Amino acid sequence: MVNIVEKLYNQGNISDEELRQLIETDDAQAAELLRRYADEVRQKYYGRKVFLRGLIEISSYCRNDCLYCGIRRSNTCAERYRLSREEILSCCENGYGLGFRTFVMQGGEDMYFTDDFMCGVISEIKEKYPDCAVTLSLGERSFESYKRMKEAGADRYLLRHEAADEKLYSRLHPSELSFSTRRECLFNLKKLGYQVGAGFMVGAPYQTTESLIADFRFLQELSPQMIGIGPFIPHHSTPFKDEKGGTLDLTLRLLGILRLMFPKVLLPATTALGTIAPDGREQGLKTGCNVVMPNLSPVKVRKKYDLYDNKICTGEEAAECRMCLQRRIESAGYEVAAERGDAADFNI
Ligand code: SAH
Repeated sequence: MVNIVEKLYNQGNISDEELRQLIETDDAQAAELLRRYADEVRQKYYGRKVFLRGLIEISSYCRNDCLYCGIRRSNTCAERYRLSREEILSCCENGYGLGFRTFVMQGGEDMYFTDDFMCGVISEIKEKYPDCAVTLSLGERSFESYKRMKEAGADRYLLRHEAADEKLYSRLHPSELSFSTRRECLFNLKKLGYQVGAGFMVGAPYQTTESLIADFRFLQELSPQMIGIGPFIPHHSTPFKDEKGGTLDLTLRLLGILRLMFPKVLLPATTALGTIAPDGREQGLKTGCNVVMPNLSPVKVRKKYDLYDNKICTGEEAAECRMCLQRRIESAGYEVAAERGDAADFNI
């Protein structure tokens, strides 16, 4: 098993069969070597830097009905909110003062946020904070919509592909959603010059080693600047409420593989990882991660952006969140980088 890790480290790729073995192994020595190499490679390109992204959860309304997600349309228990332009701008002002140089506006697919509305907010943020990057994570929209928001100044777009195996995709999503549309959106975003983030949940219901291999191969084809993965965590009012969640072990394993396959990629230690283990994000940082996304949303809405159960950081002020993460980053042996944090191979 150790030689598969060596090969991945030396060549940046391995065969499907080797991937399968590495994903499924319980060889502790191989897991430890994977972690060490992942850390070495992240340090080669990014040193000990960890980039911060201020996450602003702009809406809990969603037109979609993804089976895993707590803010799915048919969850009538979900509390819905949307932030106003003024509230979003005040999150940015607060965040800028705390040292954030990237703002991520994420939400359910809420068509209240028209292109006009979004373009207005984006250009105002870029005007006030020209040294900051604006990232969007608003789900599937038309080519024209992505284009207008790019022209208004958006720099990056996060859209997890969720599952590159079409059968798995359709078991996780309602019939009106398809992997082919998802894929088209991601390639549209790339074509428009966004720095793109894709990714998937680890341990989602019905996920197999084969489907994970399809995820890796799709990511190689897309070659995104960022890859977000985190454990699936059941939400109590979704059809997947009784399913098992993803494990820390497998998530770390996959993070290590991703770092060796995509040496220069931006890899977040996600909130979901911090939710399933108290030191999950620190362990992620030690296994190749170089991004964390502290919550910048107003405290009064945080509990309502309820994607999965027991989500952490819902009770704290932005400043507390920021300082807590800084302590965690430093305790893991890394340092907060006060910069936009673009991918090492992306020319802006
Ligand atoms: N509407 C946007 C943002 C979705 S929320 C979009 O479509 O991109 C961001 C991510 O949270 C999703 O892409 C999904 O992978 C993750 N997520 C949703 N429900 C989850 C759950 N129960 N457990 C873990 N992650 C979840």
